[in-house]
Amino acid sequence: MVAFFLSYCTLYEGKVSYMIIILKQNTDQASIEKLRLFMEEKGISIHLSQGVQTTIMGLIGDTTALDVNNLRALPFIEDVKRISEPYKSTNRKFHPADSLIPVGNQLVGAGNFHFMAGPCSIESEDQLTTIAKEIKKSGATFLRGGAFKPRSSPYAFQGLHGEGMRLLSIAKKETGLPIVTEIMNINHLDLFDDVDLIQVGARNMQNFELLKALGECNKPILLKRGLANTIEEWLMSAEYIMAGGNSNVILCERGIRTFETMTRNTLDLAAVPIIKRLSHLPIIVDPSHATGITWLIEPLAKASIAAGADGLMIEVHNNPAEALCDGAQSLTPAEFDHVMQTCKPYIKLEGRV
Ligand code: PEP
Ligand code: MN
Repeated sequence: MVAFFLSYCTLYEGKVSYMIIILKQNTDQASIEKLRLFMEEKGISIHLSQGVQTTIMGLIGDTTALDVNNLRALPFIEDVKRISEPYKSTNRKFHPADSLIPVGNQLVGAGNFHFMAGPCSIESEDQLTTIAKEIKKSGATFLRGGAFKPRSSPYAFQGLHGEGMRLLSIAKKETGLPIVTEIMNINHLDLFDDVDLIQVGARNMQNFELLKALGECNKPILLKRGLANTIEEWLMSAEYIMAGGNSNVILCERGIRTFETMTRNTLDLAAVPIIKRLSHLPIIVDPSHATGITWLIEPLAKASIAAGADGLMIEVHNNPAEALCDGAQSLTPAEFDHVMQTCKPYIKLEGRV
């Protein structure tokens, strides 16, 4: 892990390229160690990914001088490939198994399914703890809630800021649910000590200075897809975080801007299996921001599960009609409970827990 981290420090200096060595099954530890030493002497860092079927040795550094054919000639090497895509650490070629991301007392990815639920904005202690207790009863595993809100209008409710963060901690203590909340400015990071999963909202997906800074922090990051960003741009943003040494990234598809006006955004469900094919990172879906309409949450939640999502993020409010933000897309706790119970057989059918 340390070697992996240090390797990233050289990313922006000199020639850096990524290569993978696929080792034959049952390669002994001594051969792996010998190869590791050989590479490290050349200033190349190693990221070993040991799966049940295959072991992949990822090389980061100036690999241009390596002779691929010489390497292929070694008896325990199955194949050697260069990673040509611009996304490297996020690439499934670099890490063939699904990544399992520890978040608070939970594990995200690799067959685990999570419901993250809660209000768009934290409004009061009573509002947040009431919702938190309700969603927990239904089986949700994360509490979401915004304290720093990115609003289109400067006159709209901007969130409770530090007070909201304090209320999140109270709700966490009362329910035991890990908390996820959005960061908009890296100067606020000190307020995120008790946060389990830091959200980067759609509007900040390409705030590269923020991404770089989060790459240096030790908390998992939930990276939402930008309003008008391609899947490759999204992976490159995840790459920014990982390049800083933080490999705990979870992606969130939340709809993109299209010409369609029936829904708030257009949920790009194809992004789920595409991400699964291209990357090892977990991906969850937010049908609330993708549609803006409560009755669309249930069918799209089911569709997300079928598409291979690792979880759902859903907005829930105890009084949607009076919510300070996004009431029209917020489910009541009872509606959320119905969605969760309806989704459970689908999660089982897809072989997730
Ligand atoms: C949110 O989750 O509260 C939010 C603002 O979402 P997005 O960044 O996807 O618009
Ligand atoms: Mn919202």
